[in-house]
Amino acid sequence: MKKKNSFIPYSRHYCDRKDIKNLINALKSNYVSQGPKQKEFANNLRKITKSKYVTVLNSATSALHTACASLGLKKNDILWTVPITWPASANCGLYCGAKIDFVDIDETTYNICTKKLLKKLIYSKKKKILPKILVVVHLAGNPCDLKKIKNLSKKFKFKIIEDASHALGSFYNNMPIGNPKYSDAVVTSFGPLKSITSAEGGAIFTNNKKNYIFNEIFRQSGVQKNKDYFYLKNKSYWWNEQQVLGYNYKLSELHASLGISQLKKLKLFVKKRNKLSEIYEKKLCKKIRFQKSLNKNFISARHIFIIRVNKSLRSKLFNFLIANNIGASVNYIPIYKYPYYKKVVKVNLKHLKESENYYSEAISIPLFYGMTKLEHSRVINVINKFFDKYL
Ligand SMILES: *Cc1c(COP(=O)(O)O)cnc(C)c1O
Repeated sequence: MKKKNSFIPYSRHYCDRKDIKNLINALKSNYVSQGPKQKEFANNLRKITKSKYVTVLNSATSALHTACASLGLKKNDILWTVPITWPASANCGLYCGAKIDFVDIDETTYNICTKKLLKKLIYSKKKKILPKILVVVHLAGNPCDLKKIKNLSKKFKFKIIEDASHALGSFYNNMPIGNPKYSDAVVTSFGPLKSITSAEGGAIFTNNKKNYIFNEIFRQSGVQKNKDYFYLKNKSYWWNEQQVLGYNYKLSELHASLGISQLKKLKLFVKKRNKLSEIYEKKLCKKIRFQKSLNKNFISARHIFIIRVNKSLRSKLFNFLIANNIGASVNYIPIYKYPYYKKVVKVNLKHLKESENYYSEAISIPLFYGMTKLEHSRVINVINKFFDKYL
């Protein structure tokens, strides 16, 4: 039995006996890497998102780098993203030598604000500093305004990468997030706390065959092993070809096996996270603000549960949760506040007001598949007790 007030983390992975069995079987098989499991995992991801091509890699960070490289991002190009995300959404641009700039978020969805995006695009067109790539993030799994962003990309000629690290299991109307209908590439993560986990892992979804072939070799040192795609006409049985400067971003068979068995539980995970989230929205103090969906037909994978409180109460509430043995987090610290980014990007806070507001008010409270009813109501009671005390 768990102790009555034992620590409740803000998130936690969930593994069952089948996951463990699959992992052990992979270890006993003929391949620990570069075998059939990574292909099977990619194929299963392809089917559930109805994408044309999927490449699995060892993280979403590698996947973002690979996607940027496949879209031809290079030195002195410009990549835009939002500040409220994990820094990997911007780091991928720097890996390619590009410059980074940030677009503010929307005050209700916490995703990229398309009005501010349009304004910034018009201004940047005049100044000839348009981005080559825009990385949009479906924060907490809440789908972005993909149609509008796609239309802007046609008008201003930039490419779109969806950072869907939070959003495997989300739906944009009837389209599963992962399907690259409105973008050039979608990237997702199988890190420990994501919709499903392979311990570490990531994937790129694309409908472009050329980009797919690039993605496949970029993760294996740039070496092409498929004779159909050789540059040189070499008939030797042993021949393979390094065609680009790649990295070792491969996903091992162990990780892939875990991913395959976790993917079978995706629907279940998302359903439970949604149920817990809806109860939070119903029962938590009315002074709290919640993330809004753009459209009632969208489904969020509910990667994290973000609440917004008056900024004078935020730190107090955070400390109160920790004092009551309840985990909390702030997702995310605006990227431009990091010491590293202060060195490489100059921002004007006047254009980032909502990111600043968000950062002063947001807390992520516990939400995970294995959360018990008791743990869930304890979180609700502790938060409501806090508001009784301080309001
Ligand atoms: C987790 C995360 C990443 C990075 O994923 P890894 O698989 O850990 O590299 C990128 N972007 C966002 C928004 C994330 O939450």
